[in-house]
Amino acid sequence: MPKNMRIRHKITFAVGVAVTTVLVAMAVFFIWQQERSVLKQNERTMLKLTESVAQGLQAVMLAGTADVAESFADRLKTVSEVIDFRILRVNGDEAFRDNLTIEDVNRRRGEEAFAPRDRETRISVLAPDDPALLATVATGEPTPVYETDEKGNRVLTFIAPIRAIESCSRCHGKGPPVRGVIKLSTSLLPVERDILEVRQYAIGGLALALMATMLLTGYMLGRTVVRPLEKVTHAMARVSDGDLDHQVPIDSRDELGHMANSFNRMTSELRTTYDGLRREQDKLTTIIHGAGEGIVVTDGSGNVVLVNPAAERLLEKPAHQIIAEGFPHLLDDPDTMRHWLSEECARGPVTTHYKGRILQVFASTILGNDYNVVGSAALMRDITEEKRLEEELRRLSTTDGLTGLYNRRHLDETLETEFHRAGRTGTSLAVMMFDIDHFKKFNDTYGHDQGDRVLQAVARNFRETLRKYDLACRYGGEEFVGILPNTTLDGAESVAERLRKEIEAFEVDGLKVTISLGVAAYPEQPVGSPDELIETADRALYQSKEKGRNRTTRADALPLLMEATETASREDGTGKNATGA
Ligand code: GH3
Ligand code: MG
Ligand code: MG
Repeated sequence: MPKNMRIRHKITFAVGVAVTTVLVAMAVFFIWQQERSVLKQNERTMLKLTESVAQGLQAVMLAGTADVAESFADRLKTVSEVIDFRILRVNGDEAFRDNLTIEDVNRRRGEEAFAPRDRETRISVLAPDDPALLATVATGEPTPVYETDEKGNRVLTFIAPIRAIESCSRCHGKGPPVRGVIKLSTSLLPVERDILEVRQYAIGGLALALMATMLLTGYMLGRTVVRPLEKVTHAMARVSDGDLDHQVPIDSRDELGHMANSFNRMTSELRTTYDGLRREQDKLTTIIHGAGEGIVVTDGSGNVVLVNPAAERLLEKPAHQIIAEGFPHLLDDPDTMRHWLSEECARGPVTTHYKGRILQVFASTILGNDYNVVGSAALMRDITEEKRLEEELRRLSTTDGLTGLYNRRHLDETLETEFHRAGRTGTSLAVMMFDIDHFKKFNDTYGHDQGDRVLQAVARNFRETLRKYDLACRYGGEEFVGILPNTTLDGAESVAERLRKEIEAFEVDGLKVTISLGVAAYPEQPVGSPDELIETADRALYQSKEKGRNRTTRADALPLLMEATETASREDGTGKNATGA
């Protein structure tokens, strides 16, 4: 049955098949029964005919004229529908064709009562062992035989007994109860015509009955089942088109009525759920449209279906352009966007530069319950200001406010890194330390603000003297440290001397200061830690102060001088540290 067939036709078809089957079965049974009945009726008629022929023949024979019997048989053959009529002996040979019986009777009666025939023939009509012949002779009852002749027509043949009665024995003597048989064959053509007629009537009746049944069934089904079903189907179609207010009319209390009722309950449940969802969606839309983050969403086919105002602002293009360009072109870099959307990368937000600003983008593929792609979404946040503040904070935490040089904390971190790098790569790392001479007195004389300006000027000079890869730090107060990677002690000494001379020649508001410096280098100084390297430079600086200030001392000059320094310290009893703090 085709799947797109209408239910009305399906039901009619199913009922039609059932009714047709039953009616055809009934018709076949009826026709079969009719055929049997017609054949039986015919058989009974033919039997009567055969029996009366047998009796007639007997009467003729008793009248004593065998020739009359023969002509009787010949006349019977001319009766329409009688195909053949023969009088046979019990051995199957046709009687009245030879002189056997005549001679036998004449001999028995002792006179020439019957004149022999001039011409004798022997016609064997049935075989002596023909089953019908044997049955008739044995039982003394007529036997019907249905057969088909050479033209294909059906023929009914009766083999009926010619019984011996008392009167016969006068001529024929005592013999078996059946003296001979008659074979009467009739055509079944008229009977078959009757049967055909019955069949035609039956088929006509069947067709009429079928038509009437189908029409009645179709009408009844239409009223009771199909139309209510169509109402429900129609209502379902309207609901699926979005009309959740549509209700199916309930016309009955049967299963269809229950179905309509359940459907109406279901749609009102749906309506309630839909309204709730709608409200939630409205809320969500308000949130999305008011969000500071840019949000762009696609459907399962990749078409952009949502762009909020923040996204338009961040991407500097209108929604219709974003929709037209498609999701991968959001940030004008489709390859990167596709890479972000690929499964391995959809882990967290990424930072990217877009039109001079820094954006944090979280792009991901949205998967449904069965892991099919239901869409993609991108959340974008402008973090330019955040990054600037972060950078500013980082700078403030690593630099000194007054001079803009790196502070002590950053110095410690960098020195640690550079010290280990030098140890690893076998390169030389130099440290240069200096302190402004008699700065306390300078402050006292010119004031603290003037002192600050000098500090700033010295710092500027210091930074400009160093190379790009060197690090200029304010170590504390008016003490400074320079970290010089890839620099030997000699190199550090020449940088120190150049700086010292520049400061010496430099004037701030017409005032001058000098500085004392100490340089040390690793691994020329076999120190074990960054702190020890600083300490060594500090000791060299102290040595410069001791030696009269405004000079540079190399750490490799220290061991000889150390003793003198320590002795001097002991003599003036100060015992203060190398920086004099
Ligand atoms: P020396 O030649 O032995 O170094 O003599 P000095 O006077 O410089 O002695 P010391 O190094 O002990 O003195 C440090 C002085 O530096 C103390 C303080 O008044 C001054 N100073 C430290 N930090 C600042 C600062 O931030 N601004 C100003 N104006 N002065 C500072
Ligand atoms: Mg000083
Ligand atoms: Mg000092």
